[in-house]
Amino acid sequence: MSSAYMDNNATTRVDPRVLETILPYFSEYYGNPSSMHSFGGDVGKRLEEARASVQALLGVEHDSEIIFTSCGTESDNTAILSALAIQPSRREIITSVVEHPAILSLCDHLERHEGYKVHYIPVDRLGRISMEAYAAALSEQVAIVSMMYANNETGTIFPVETMARMAKEKGALFHTDAVQAVGKIVLNMQESAIDMLSLSGHKLHAPKGIGALYVRRGTRYRPMLRGGHQERGRRAGTENTTGIIALGLAADMALEHMEYENTVVRALRDRLEAGILAQVPYAFANGDPEHRLPNTSSISFEYIEGEAILMLLSRVGIAASSGSACTSGSLEPSHVLRAMDIPYTAAHGTIRFSLSRETTEAEVDWVIAQTPPIVEQLRRLSPYWGANGPILTDNAFAPVYA
Ligand code: PLP
Repeated sequence: MSSAYMDNNATTRVDPRVLETILPYFSEYYGNPSSMHSFGGDVGKRLEEARASVQALLGVEHDSEIIFTSCGTESDNTAILSALAIQPSRREIITSVVEHPAILSLCDHLERHEGYKVHYIPVDRLGRISMEAYAAALSEQVAIVSMMYANNETGTIFPVETMARMAKEKGALFHTDAVQAVGKIVLNMQESAIDMLSLSGHKLHAPKGIGALYVRRGTRYRPMLRGGHQERGRRAGTENTTGIIALGLAADMALEHMEYENTVVRALRDRLEAGILAQVPYAFANGDPEHRLPNTSSISFEYIEGEAILMLLSRVGIAASSGSACTSGSLEPSHVLRAMDIPYTAAHGTIRFSLSRETTEAEVDWVIAQTPPIVEQLRRLSPYWGANGPILTDNAFAPVYA
């Protein structure tokens, strides 16, 4: 075994069928879909087919409800800014403490510079949202609720339908960042109270740089990008034709693999988690064991550093990700783990393994074999670890679940 890619929540490999399909749209049919000549080939038609595929994946009735964007971040920003623009008298936003920066950073900006009040709803030790705090924050002042469908670090799934219905009672719009959920969870927007939903192509085997925003028919909408008439004037800018065609095919394939994702991939994830936890003491899985994405496993290895684990995993060809904010250069554990009150000695040593339909049993077994000796090696170097186990016992605690 030379490598095992376990970082699919960060991004996925472009499916070879997707890649093959879009290549001619770079080299032969490269015309602008708005042009009259034949260099555009059938690209306009392909864009509408792609829209229909995204509709099918989300259970959306009308083609006008799907707007292609450049990424999940753009969809998230557009949804919130649109909701605020169309309801100027409502000056409050509700979101959760564990959202992606695509939401949190915008909310922070709106609070600091635009005078909005933002309610950040807390989560418990399993990453579950506090429905009491949510109910208390809801009022007729709230323009929009934005709650992620599933968390990118732990895979915890929020009860977004219930929350959307509650928002509706107060006349607030409900948006969900479903970037990690789309393609892994069956969605049916026709039977949903959700008003807006964001997705991103590169999380489901399409390329980076393509996303979509679902906007329920009848929902007032204010575009973020103004210019040409693309996307019915709701998102100006020449279409990312190859990205859109890729997303359409990726959506078809995600739908075909939905069952596989929820049976085979889930079983592989469970095998990985159980296999590691059976061999490593002072380690536990994070997230809601009852409501969790089928592909995600966040494991805290107490008393060691996640970055060191990642480095040693990388040396044996295993790609995973740490729960800590390593990319920002900060030594603080991630905001998600801190919000869940995971003790520092465990949050620092948290690794996210995220699988996909491409993950094989051999890869999983490779990770199960390689991880425990790496943890053992690092613990021997840890100042918190002695000859007989942890030295720092006052910070230790019972695993939340085995
Ligand atoms: N929301 C969530 C939950 C994510 O996991 C990500 C990407 O990691 C994003 C939004 C941002 O998506 P994009 O990279 O397409 O902007």
